[in-house]
Amino acid sequence: VTKIAVMTSGGDAPGMNAAVRAVVRACIYNNIECMGIMRGYQGLIENELIPLDSRSVRNTISRGGTFLQSARSKEFRTPEGRAKAFENFKANGLDALVVIGGDGSFTGGMIFNKEHGVPVIGIPGTIDNDIYGTQFTLGYDTALNTVVEAIDKIRDTASSHNRLFFIEVMGRDAGFIALNAGIGAGAEEILIPEENLGIERLIESLETSKKSGKTSSIVVVAEGDKTGKGVFELKDYVEKNMPEYDVRVSVLGHMQRGGSPSCFDRVLAGRLGVKAVDLLIEGKSNLMVGINNNEITATDLEKAVKLHHDINKNLLRVADILSI
Ligand code: ATP
Repeated sequence: VTKIAVMTSGGDAPGMNAAVRAVVRACIYNNIECMGIMRGYQGLIENELIPLDSRSVRNTISRGGTFLQSARSKEFRTPEGRAKAFENFKANGLDALVVIGGDGSFTGGMIFNKEHGVPVIGIPGTIDNDIYGTQFTLGYDTALNTVVEAIDKIRDTASSHNRLFFIEVMGRDAGFIALNAGIGAGAEEILIPEENLGIERLIESLETSKKSGKTSSIVVVAEGDKTGKGVFELKDYVEKNMPEYDVRVSVLGHMQRGGSPSCFDRVLAGRLGVKAVDLLIEGKSNLMVGINNNEITATDLEKAVKLHHDINKNLLRVADILSI
């Protein structure tokens, strides 16, 4: 390879800039030219590319978001859109692509590879951590720390007023953030998409907490929690059944996706970026780099997209024991 393009695609996550920086510097180290594609696949279709040298990524390691910006591209889902993208790819003299993103972005990359033969390596970037083939995705650790910090603050006010808080965190399909941030912040209950703890159990647990002298409670709820009720309905339900509780809701929202990446995410970004370039130099394609047992690994993109990254169910037991 002589010229590699890098893009960020799908939902943004802290650590994406650090990963772009790593790809750029690994390219330069190996005498490979590097270009950044703006706004994911849409930028490739519209030929919005910028040359990236070592200095153009200075001061980016600590920045949240993605300076290459991200987008969802409908056009890239069509063969015509992808043909346009490939024309620009060729016109810029590129011969390989690194895609930093989630499942959807990897699927797009695989199709692009199949249709046009472009070597593609994926770097998992999403705060949800729901990608098979890596124990940690970029941005997840930062998001966890952000959520724990937010819950700590909410707990201060909750305990000053004997309140029960339902705190909604991100995770439509996966409970990684809810479960780990919930344990980290000492939540009384944690509701996740993978497991239906049941609303009766929630009430029971709150009764027990109250009897044991707890004056305030925090219940962490993933967006896609399996009771299917959502935080506002849960609030109504508890208020009806436990009128003695002053119930409040806090939806953390997009603040969870922002902020300067944690040291863990920065180091991970560096390792994944270097590995992505190494693989392309070895002539590999259709792989996703990841971290497993502190080793940087490569997983078939197809597997990464099709298989499911399960939560560690032991954590449910730990959460249960610790909230006694
Ligand atoms: P997140 O997990 O944060 O949602 P993602 O990478 O899964 O990130 P998507 O919006 O699903 O986000 O995908 C990003 C982009 O990848 C899409 O906007 C589209 O351009 C491209 N893409 C996704 N699926 C396909 C597909 N089946 N064919 C072609 N392109 C696709």
